[in-house]
Amino acid sequence: MSTPRDADVTAAVDRVLPEVRADLERLVRVPSVAFPGFDHEQVRRSAELVAELCRDAGVPDVQILSVEGGQPAVVGRIPAPPGAPTVLLYAHHDVQPVGDESGWNTAAFEPTQQGERLYGRGAADDKAGVAAHLAAIRAFDGRPPVGVTLFIEGEEECGSPTLERFLHEYAELLTADVLVLADSGNWDVGTPALTTSLRGLADCYVEVRTLEHPVHSGMYGGVVPDALTTLCRLLATLHDEQGTVAVPGLHEAGPTGVEMPEKRLREESSVLDGVQLVGTGSITERNWNKPAVTVIGIDCPSVQNASNTLVASARAKISMRLAPGQDPEAAMAALLEHLRTHVEWGASVTVTRGELGAPYQIDATGPVFDAARDAFRTAWDGAAPVDMGIGGSIPFVAEFADAFPSAAILVTGVEDPDARAHGANESLHLGEWRRACVAEALLLAKLAPASER
Ligand SMILES: [Zn+2]
Repeated sequence: MSTPRDADVTAAVDRVLPEVRADLERLVRVPSVAFPGFDHEQVRRSAELVAELCRDAGVPDVQILSVEGGQPAVVGRIPAPPGAPTVLLYAHHDVQPVGDESGWNTAAFEPTQQGERLYGRGAADDKAGVAAHLAAIRAFDGRPPVGVTLFIEGEEECGSPTLERFLHEYAELLTADVLVLADSGNWDVGTPALTTSLRGLADCYVEVRTLEHPVHSGMYGGVVPDALTTLCRLLATLHDEQGTVAVPGLHEAGPTGVEMPEKRLREESSVLDGVQLVGTGSITERNWNKPAVTVIGIDCPSVQNASNTLVASARAKISMRLAPGQDPEAAMAALLEHLRTHVEWGASVTVTRGELGAPYQIDATGPVFDAARDAFRTAWDGAAPVDMGIGGSIPFVAEFADAFPSAAILVTGVEDPDARAHGANESLHLGEWRRACVAEALLLAKLAPASER
């Protein structure tokens, strides 16, 4: 239910929004790619700009911090009023590389508004998340009714390689009662969401050998098996005819409470007309709550270099998404065992484990989640927020949960289904972003003790 106080907070956000929009545009202009081989001086510049914007927003204690080998993060703290909880607001200031520039309709690092959208690398993922936090703080003139710790990471897009050490080293500085991790998205334009489940990840390499060295395909073909055909047949055993994962022993988390129309999935995924969808169950169940197996690369002779020989060895990388509740080690073991035991014709097979990431399910009940849903509903003019899963993995969520086991974790975000994060023409829906800023300011107000509201 919205209150007179809600209207005041909303008006305060609307007052500061033009300044925060300018902050966001300044952030987008810095090409802060933390990937190896990119100019990390830009990541440093980006951290310095974030620190400056935090100070401008009224955050009294701002530091740029990193651990050995890591990129600079910004930590800003506003102490909690007596009796009030502390809320950690997370986002990241590094961005994905631009990729093929010819795919962009505007300059990637020049924020450009077209219609309701602001285009630019990082305009959504996740500089708009940084800006939403700044909006919430500015709306209270730097004195929100709860303690706030801003934590703006600088290496999320590279998989947060030093985050675990960072959270450990600065645990005292970062400790909070509520974590707002603003790096996900909403269900659709006009419908807010809390992200409450994430799939995990297990990947591996499989190499098949049938010969000591390649031999003439005319001399031996039809008698001696080649490694590439043998590998293809092995990979084909990973799914049944409907495209359901055929690796035995994997966990499924059951139906979801949300439906996605097939038309929407087809549009958003760009799947070609006439191509059937794979798997069984509702679309959200398949995408969020069941495992998926994908062959993501094969090493073998290229078509250009193909000669009339039987290929002696071939290798594939296999990526598996894991349902919430799946033990990732058990899933990896099941995948490796399947590959070892399904190779045909007595070929030699070697499987090597790759990366592992735990799935995560948030128990989204209790007063903090009630306050967040209330804030979302008010900011979205009465639209009820959806508890959303995502088919991908955000490994840092589990790391935060490990580091701060008693904190309530809210995974929020500014992206809508058209944001094209990581792709060409990334953009932010400005109307939805305003609502996200309002929701976050309302949340801070609602988490304050009754006497402070
Ligand atoms: Zn992100």
